[in-house]
Amino acid sequence: MKFGGTSVEDTAAIGRTAAIVAGRVALGKQPVVVVSAMAKVTDQLLRAAAAAAEGDRTGALAISSRLRARHRDTAAELVKNAAECAALVDVIDQKFDSLDEILRGLSAILELTPRISDLIVSYGERLSSRMVAAAFCERGIDAAHVDAREVIITDSQFQKAAPQDALIEARAAEKLRPLTARGKVPVMGGFIASNEAGITTTLGRGGSDFTGALVGGALSAEAIEIWTDVDGIMTTDPRICPDALRVKTISFEEAAELAYFGAKVLHPATILPAVKKNIPVLVLNSRNAGCEGTRIMSLAPPCKSPFKSIAVKKKLSIIDVVASRMLMTHGYMKEIFTIFDKHKCAVDMVSTSEVSVSLTVDSNDKLPALAADLGQLADVKYEGRKALICLVGDDIRGRNGMAAQVFNAIRHINVRMISQGASEINMSFMIDEDDADEAVRSLHAAFFTDPDPAIFDVEARKAATSC
Ligand code: ADP
Ligand code: ASP
Ligand code: MG
Repeated sequence: MKFGGTSVEDTAAIGRTAAIVAGRVALGKQPVVVVSAMAKVTDQLLRAAAAAAEGDRTGALAISSRLRARHRDTAAELVKNAAECAALVDVIDQKFDSLDEILRGLSAILELTPRISDLIVSYGERLSSRMVAAAFCERGIDAAHVDAREVIITDSQFQKAAPQDALIEARAAEKLRPLTARGKVPVMGGFIASNEAGITTTLGRGGSDFTGALVGGALSAEAIEIWTDVDGIMTTDPRICPDALRVKTISFEEAAELAYFGAKVLHPATILPAVKKNIPVLVLNSRNAGCEGTRIMSLAPPCKSPFKSIAVKKKLSIIDVVASRMLMTHGYMKEIFTIFDKHKCAVDMVSTSEVSVSLTVDSNDKLPALAADLGQLADVKYEGRKALICLVGDDIRGRNGMAAQVFNAIRHINVRMISQGASEINMSFMIDEDDADEAVRSLHAAFFTDPDPAIFDVEARKAATSC
């Protein structure tokens, strides 16, 4: 059971989370609980790190001091037993004392390495997992805190470390199984991990979902539950389109595609450990625990609607590479991709003509150096503030007229790049970021007015309309 930042953001949220876990225990289940940092804490820790690295020691320590107060106040509200509360506050103070020491050191050294960044952000999950474990005990759950860094072993690619499956399986058997066997509920932080030498790493932003799936996979769990702040995977981001509908069931393949192309509700790597062991993944709402959520399974039932969901990925750039010497030659693509590889830049979409190639990548500070290297081969232009819209559904390739319907729905918007056919279940295109929300709303209106009730929760929409 993985609970995201909003599910542990304050006393009320942690109380709801405890009730959900207690409900599973009462059913005779043996859950392992993975928690994110309290909402927004990771962002604030990164801000503190950036301030310290710029020499703003006072600013960095002020952020840390506000975070310390938030954690202490929540701990005092959560744990009423005086001795237990004092012990928890003591742990919180010790952690903030060591964080402050790192921030002071950083403000003298003025160099924020990925390794130090991981160490600093790890405090978010190290603190939240301690607090949640104490709150569970107070509420009658026999919880045991486990340091996730002793279970999730990765390589040393700080900020986006790759898990070592065999080692994780062995550690889960050693550190988690004995606890569940004794009826205890292990509580650990998501996102944080360590390399084989014990140095702290992280799995990348949003990585607590991935931890949940890794633990579920390592223990061959009955299910992997991702508890968040929405009713499940929706037909699009409900923040963009408030009338988005819950998708009741979706395939692993479709969910992976959606996650990769921007649906923040699930970290893209979450699906893989589940697929390997064919473990169903459920996306559930900790604020509406009675809702059955979304079930992600190997084979989803057939759906009459062409699309299951629309994802949007922002902050992308398009790189146009134009070279007449590409005409009628071979090996040119290889040269281009070798340069992307050298800069460790992942490409989302590619489109080619006789003498030009357009590629899309996440906007990042490597772009000028990448463009300079590509400039040795050809004329290069790059442009930021682009967004990728991705429609996912069963057998799009096999349905007639889909492209016409999609582009008719957004005929008022300028499309820069199109990709379809690479996968049977995905159609995507690139537009200006400023047009993205409008495009999503137009597509949603065009494709989800009469959705298949077997797959989408149309009852919720009816109930909302009749209110
Ligand atoms: P958590 O902190 O629980 O991991 P996240 O903020 O990472 O939660 O993910 C949940 C958010 O994902 C939702 O609040 C929603 O705005 C966003 N989201 C984007 N696309 C979708 C989608 N297709 N279905 C549901 N939520 C989505
Ligand atoms: N706390 C981390 C983040 O905000 C990991 C997560 O919440 O999944 O990215
Ligand atoms: Mg998340």
